[in-house]
Amino acid sequence: DFDHVLEALLNTSVDLDSLEPHSVLEERWIKEVVTRSGMKFRWAKLSESKERPNRDAHCRPPADPAHLVSRPPVVTIMGHVDHGKTTLLDSLRKSQIVSTEAGGITQHIGAFLVQLPTGEKITFLDTPGHAAFSSMRARGANATDILILVVAADDGVMNQTVESIQHAKRAKVPLIVAVNKCDKPQADPQKVKQELLAHDVVCEEFGGDVQAIHISALKGDNLLALAEATVTLAEVLELKADPSGPVEGLVIESRTDKGRGPVTTAIIQRGTLKRGCVLVAGKSWAKVRFLFDENGQAVTEAGPSAAVEVVGWKELPSAGESILEVESEQRAREVVEWRSQEKEQQKLQEEQSAIELKQKLHQEEYRQERERMTHLSWRQRRVAMYLANKDKFSSRPSERAQSEQLSLPLIIKGDVDGSVEAILSILDSYDAQQQCQLEVIHFGIGDISENDINMADTFRGSIYGFNVAASRPIEQLAAKKGVPLRLHRVIYKLIDQLKDELSSKLPPLV
Ligand code: GDP
Repeated sequence: DFDHVLEALLNTSVDLDSLEPHSVLEERWIKEVVTRSGMKFRWAKLSESKERPNRDAHCRPPADPAHLVSRPPVVTIMGHVDHGKTTLLDSLRKSQIVSTEAGGITQHIGAFLVQLPTGEKITFLDTPGHAAFSSMRARGANATDILILVVAADDGVMNQTVESIQHAKRAKVPLIVAVNKCDKPQADPQKVKQELLAHDVVCEEFGGDVQAIHISALKGDNLLALAEATVTLAEVLELKADPSGPVEGLVIESRTDKGRGPVTTAIIQRGTLKRGCVLVAGKSWAKVRFLFDENGQAVTEAGPSAAVEVVGWKELPSAGESILEVESEQRAREVVEWRSQEKEQQKLQEEQSAIELKQKLHQEEYRQERERMTHLSWRQRRVAMYLANKDKFSSRPSERAQSEQLSLPLIIKGDVDGSVEAILSILDSYDAQQQCQLEVIHFGIGDISENDINMADTFRGSIYGFNVAASRPIEQLAAKKGVPLRLHRVIYKLIDQLKDELSSKLPPLV
């Protein structure tokens, strides 16, 4: 029956995955188990999820060193609030060292390029602060090659200065210190560098390898020296990339533009991005319609370390998502589809783990309950109940206090389990409403035994037998001890007699 199956399901470890719609177990049963145990019912999807070929797009293996060419460093500026990060970015953007070949109005696209008079280039990510850096890192993405740590010379090392240092260390990104606000009379750059020592940032003059440049972001002093220091470090780092082959990159910003739809700023890490390229990023794809630089100028291509606005996305990918070029639109759709399914799959797997945990907890609870109540059998549960109330039988019914409820101790014997259980269940439904309680002190199958008689005698109970016999000596023993022995071959007659006996126990109506 339903409850039995349910019990079995909850009690045993059921591999939901293995259950098919046509299984012997009806769907509603499984659903019920799932509902009762608080699980989510998704088995159909689970079974269909197995063995999916991986259709994702992947990064290429490392490039042949012969194809590698130097690339500009990608730099992030960090530091304590009010130490001058925004001012520094603005000055770098406006200063004469900024590439002005396009001559347009600089727009905020999340990054900009600085070109030194000597021709070297630096890409600055212009979303200062830790949030951007951390969210990238959280995605396992690291667009930054060098971190410029801005420390105000009048303020020194502060909380967020230390945090920035920790970020850099965790991401294994080398630092350059920009000691800012050196135009201020109270500026003390020396003190700043000393304080940094305590955080394992050892500047060159203390024998370390960290360059420290004294600048004034506000006045634009020494920005070229800072840029040169950056280029020097980049040379040490030997930053290289392969400008050929399918593009790999990173979304550093994304937004929806009124006229152009979803737009991202991408940092190119490998290959050269051109119009017409087909890209995937997260669960979105693009056929590149336009590329723009930070001056709003359309560009035809963007190579390693360049930051470009990409127009042509179907949906908006998130910052930090990696960009991969694929060979066709069809392939892009396939990748996006695969990733969506993969995401769904992950969710299912998480749910499945939660289900398994719940199931385990439930099983454990159930096991404990069974152990406590019925670790033996259904039948012995009754014995346990009896034992729990045994003190009621410690004296003979006649000796019990009048206030105590009347009870009729019973021993039930039958020919087969089924008949005993049938009688017990009739009694169950019957005795609940009675003034006189039936107390089944023992039940079992087989002919009446000496033990049955002794037990009935001890508890002043009666023996009811169904389709069983009592031998002559047993009958005599019963008679001798005054134990009522009632044998029947028809259940309703047995029940009738039992009812009569119960009634006889009740106090007479007055
Ligand atoms: P952020 O919070 O780190 O981005 O700091 P801001 O760039 O907003 O600068 C905070 C304040 O410091 C502003 O009032 C800036 O004008 C000022 N400031 C930034 N750089 C300098 C500098 O080199 N010299 C002086 N005197 N003030 C500066």
